[in-house]
Amino acid sequence: MQCSKCQNTAVYTRKYSGESLCSECFSNSILRKAAKTISKYKMIKNGDLVCVGVSGGKDSLVLLDTLKKMSQSHNFKIIAVTIDEGIPGYRDEALDIVKEFCTKLDVEFKIYSYKDLFDLTLSESLDLRESEKTSSCSICGILRRRSLDHAAKEIGANVIATGHNLDDTLQTFLINTLSGDTSKIGWMDPENQGKELRKIKPLSEIYESEIVFYAFTNNLPFQSEPCPHMNEGIRTEIREFLNSLEDHRSGIKNNMYHSILKISNIIKTFDEKEKRNCQICGNSCSGTICSVCSMISNLKND
Ligand code: SF4
Ligand code: ZN
Repeated sequence: MQCSKCQNTAVYTRKYSGESLCSECFSNSILRKAAKTISKYKMIKNGDLVCVGVSGGKDSLVLLDTLKKMSQSHNFKIIAVTIDEGIPGYRDEALDIVKEFCTKLDVEFKIYSYKDLFDLTLSESLDLRESEKTSSCSICGILRRRSLDHAAKEIGANVIATGHNLDDTLQTFLINTLSGDTSKIGWMDPENQGKELRKIKPLSEIYESEIVFYAFTNNLPFQSEPCPHMNEGIRTEIREFLNSLEDHRSGIKNNMYHSILKISNIIKTFDEKEKRNCQICGNSCSGTICSVCSMISNLKND
């Protein structure tokens, strides 16, 4: 089959649009989609220093690859940051992959660990938790967000970019909906203007399957070994459910994504609470003590 855009042989068919693309046209379309998302939400501006969260998985390596390409023709800089959660046997392989890939791309690379920042690895935190009802990923997610904030501050970055794709957004929306956590739906709004530290997701309008194909067709060396805690939560079941819907009704994920944008924007406007500063660490929060400090003091006091 011929590429819909040039004379080359097509290697990828985008079911929801009907176009078939060769490897080069496919990769260019991904770069264009990411650039469009960045410009729509003014995610990156002239002179920005972008801290790119790189876990070593496909999404974050595709993000690093696309931002590096863009930074060569635009006025912004990037630094890659990997957060070492302290998950024995899992993070080491990823660190090697990221280090090597950053050297190849000529991107500065830094590592921050939970152990250094919170005096607890993820594994130690899991041993200390009161009950397994507090999921590994919810502890890990809180610590990772704070670690990236810390890293960005320390390296002087004003933007944090993460590799979340469209599927991640749909899954997170359903997880928050099913757990009754409506305020977190408000956080999903991609508008970030006026914030001192902008958090951006340039791949958020791209299907996970397309990110995987971009990584393969560009020979990106991503880590395939999943985190040992990956299947503990409901996310994997939701991912499979959404994939089976998309298989039978192509484009349904795109529709759902646009609905989520509208819903999160409404919830955000209703839910904006007065921001205060945490009495322990000084970071901004909505109560008197932030979620990181209250979680860590709970873990350490148990
Ligand atoms: Fe952390 Fe969960 Fe991701 Fe593992 S799967 S790295 S525990 S958030
Ligand atoms: Zn705090």
